[in-house]
Amino acid sequence: MVVLGGAGFLGSHLCERCLADGAASVLAVDNLCTGSRKNLVDSRIGFLLHDICSPITIEGPVDYVFNLASPASPFDYDRLWLETMRVGSLGTQNALDLARSKKARMLQASTSEIYGDPSISPQPETYLGNVNSVGPRAVYDEAKRYGEALVTAYRDRLGVQTRMVRIFNTYGPRMRLDDGRVVPAFVAQALRGEDFTVFGDGKQTRSFCYVDDEVDGLVRLMLSDISDPVNIGNPVEMTMLQFAEAVRKAAGGGGKIAFKPLPKDDPKQRKPDITRAKELLGWEPRVPLDQGLAKTIAYFRTVV
Ligand code: NAD
Ligand code: UDP
Repeated sequence: MVVLGGAGFLGSHLCERCLADGAASVLAVDNLCTGSRKNLVDSRIGFLLHDICSPITIEGPVDYVFNLASPASPFDYDRLWLETMRVGSLGTQNALDLARSKKARMLQASTSEIYGDPSISPQPETYLGNVNSVGPRAVYDEAKRYGEALVTAYRDRLGVQTRMVRIFNTYGPRMRLDDGRVVPAFVAQALRGEDFTVFGDGKQTRSFCYVDDEVDGLVRLMLSDISDPVNIGNPVEMTMLQFAEAVRKAAGGGGKIAFKPLPKDDPKQRKPDITRAKELLGWEPRVPLDQGLAKTIAYFRTVV
């Protein structure tokens, strides 16, 4: 099996999970624009340095193609704006062409950003979203929306076996300390005794899923016969102020709250409706926030 974006945070955990499940071979394909070879700690994981915006050639049989390749944090996709649009469009097409040529099944990593700044909560897969196509997040959101359309077209018109997961905020070891996302930002601030940089009034909500739960959802979806999109995320919702307090408690540190300007189009609320995942995949998250944060903080202590 092949994991495009396999040297990233989620991709590297997925590679390890597939090896643990007995996959005969696992190949991570990555251009390392936001990932790192250091994430591939298990020497059984093969590595191909390649930008998937160019066609992907792989020797031998391939059963499964997971496409996780894309900058994922708002900070990364702001600085890598054109790369993000290209990998979401051209890259996804090359991933689909690889799957088609190998008669493999392809899973596309889509995102809760499909829902934009949602006007309903929790968000079910049937919600069509509220996305600003000309805002700062559009380079990511619209590339992911195009990716969903392309995957659906390859399924319906060319008969490629596809799966589509809408990933909600996921956290854990191997997130980059400087990727700008709230989990590494607050954990690093707590460990350094710095103030928490809360954007806006801190009342916007997110729901955080531990990486092992997320990866379990991806694997279950890939092995299922469900080709419609499925939300995989943790429905326990909290404000960013509450999250700062949770990190302070778990890390035993952190200073005051330092309010910073809210980035434009920052979604006010986000909480997955996971009824579909529960009913069709038998999946629900198992790792509570305090346990997941403890593992994440232990990792960040080694890199701060
Ligand atoms: P990440 O940045 O750690 O991993 C992405 C990987 O893709 C990196 O290793 C990067 O180098 C690689 N990549 C990017 N462009 C590439 C290209 N053109 N060719 C080859 N490799 C390329 O991010 P992540 O958090 O692990 O996210 C993985 C996937 O999951 C992304 O597609 C992201 O959109 C999606 N997702 C993640 C979250 C989350 O909370 N982590 C939420 C929603 C969606
Ligand atoms: N955020 C924050 N301080 C930070 C980084 C992020 O308050 O240092 C907020 C951000 O405004 C958003 C939430 O935390 O409301 C989650 O941000 P993240 O970048 O992790 O992911 P998003 O869900 O916005 O893609």
